[in-house]
Amino acid sequence: MARYIGPVCRLCRREGAKLYLKGDKCYSDKCAFTKRSYAPGQHGQTQARKKVSEYGIQLREKQKARRAYGMLEGQFHAYFEKAERQKGVTGENLLVMLERRLDNVVYRLGFAASRNQGRQLVRHGHFTVNGRRVNIPSYLIKPGDVIQVHESSKESPLLKQIFEAIGHKTAPMWLETSAQDMSGKVVRYPSRDEIDTPIQEHLIVELYSR
Ligand code: SF4
Repeated sequence: MARYIGPVCRLCRREGAKLYLKGDKCYSDKCAFTKRSYAPGQHGQTQARKKVSEYGIQLREKQKARRAYGMLEGQFHAYFEKAERQKGVTGENLLVMLERRLDNVVYRLGFAASRNQGRQLVRHGHFTVNGRRVNIPSYLIKPGDVIQVHESSKESPLLKQIFEAIGHKTAPMWLETSAQDMSGKVVRYPSRDEIDTPIQEHLIVELYSR
């Protein structure tokens, strides 16, 4: 699956929000959005003063969600269609589905500094789900699933470094982390108020319902 490989801090500045795409740097004063919280480019600083149409607002919200979870348009739209077919509120279904992606779960468990890194670690086969190696970042986890660092990766210097730093991080309530055996468990699906990604999902629903 293709993915965006350009400079990521531009994406936060474009969307006017911190999307936490760079790991530890996002929490430091080196964050590009903290330093320059206006859109990138020659006219970035004047753009904020322009009146934005309803469509423009909806489009930006969708782009923000898509970029926060590191997805391209086609795949994101397919998630929306799937969320629409499910029972319940479409916007919430969409967010829960995005949270269920294995690269996101690895990030939420604290096993990666960002979703990007989570995606890379999953792709390289560093994790198992219920004992089987899974290298598909979009794999959707379900309650009861156990995610663990693969036996052959436990000595990886990168993973060792991540797990040494994990003490400072806390996983959300819908997940359980066991740093000692490099594993985590999905207790249940997240509720809407447990998803802290700054997204107003109703705007995405409105955009795709046009
Ligand atoms: Fe966004 Fe992180 Fe870059 Fe800050 S450091 S602009 S939060 S990706």
